[in-house]
Amino acid sequence: MFPRVLFSGTCRLPEFNSMDLAVDVIDSPARMRELSDTFREAAPPLGLVPTMGALHEGHLSLIRRAVSECASAVVSIFVNPAQFGPGEDLDTYPHTFEKDLEVCREEGVSAVYAPSVGQMYAKGFDTWVEVPSLASGLCGPCRPGHFRGVATVVAKLFSACKPDRAYFGEKDYQQLVLIRRMARDLDMGVEIVSCPTVREKDGVAMSSRNVNLRREERENSRSLSRGLFRARELLGEGEARAAVLIQAAREELTKACVEIDYVEVVDSETLAPLETVQGSCRMVMAAKIGATRLIDNISLVP
Ligand code: AMP
Repeated sequence: MFPRVLFSGTCRLPEFNSMDLAVDVIDSPARMRELSDTFREAAPPLGLVPTMGALHEGHLSLIRRAVSECASAVVSIFVNPAQFGPGEDLDTYPHTFEKDLEVCREEGVSAVYAPSVGQMYAKGFDTWVEVPSLASGLCGPCRPGHFRGVATVVAKLFSACKPDRAYFGEKDYQQLVLIRRMARDLDMGVEIVSCPTVREKDGVAMSSRNVNLRREERENSRSLSRGLFRARELLGEGEARAAVLIQAAREELTKACVEIDYVEVVDSETLAPLETVQGSCRMVMAAKIGATRLIDNISLVP
């Protein structure tokens, strides 16, 4: 059977035999720290791309950027139970580990960090990182504990991988802003690099969760980006009132019969709701389609 993770060695992909076609797969924080030191001593900077696997083109855009901008790039693959609430999709979250390794190898990733749940959360684990002002709104109320889980796991990934730069997608906008604040507040010395959302041809933001959508649900999921683009179009025509833009976006979602969680116009840094589009702001939204919860957002430039 194909080995899922080797402690400190080289993980072989089944269809390749040459040593050159291997990617290091690390599952222990101690070994990851050692390897990170080696990478950084050989040549900085070291880049990290944190993921939960099931890699798609959205992840690839982050990985390619890290590989092109950094001397070494580590991709972490860890489905973090601490960021899933009871009744959320932890059990059905897609896993494509072998394929992900192959993708990382093809993209020239230096190592994959794939700790087990036991390695990340040893018995008695009781230390958490919270950024309440940025976690309390938007997805916060619907997903209690989610951002605490995200901030904590990212802090742990940073301390194991010791990256100079870490790459995050604008797709998860609240997460991006919160991680940036955490890194700043805790003097982590990591530059947070934000990468634009990668979309399917029809506008749908790529997400590992899209594979769970049935055909009709996939069709209805187009309403999220349609709503965002409609709002941006109205803004281009001179409409700057947030309430009007929100209403236009909500209409697209309602037409597709999706269950709206929120649609808001917020300040890009503080995530505070705005009444008028001004300065740097974003429209952010979340909606449930069948059993799948999707999020999306777009920058609004007056
Ligand atoms: P995930 O595996 O869903 O935790 O995502 C890992 C990273 O990939 C996060 O920084 C996400 O924001 C980013 N990401 C996910 N989907 C996209 C996308 N469609 N475009 C750009 N980045 C993305």
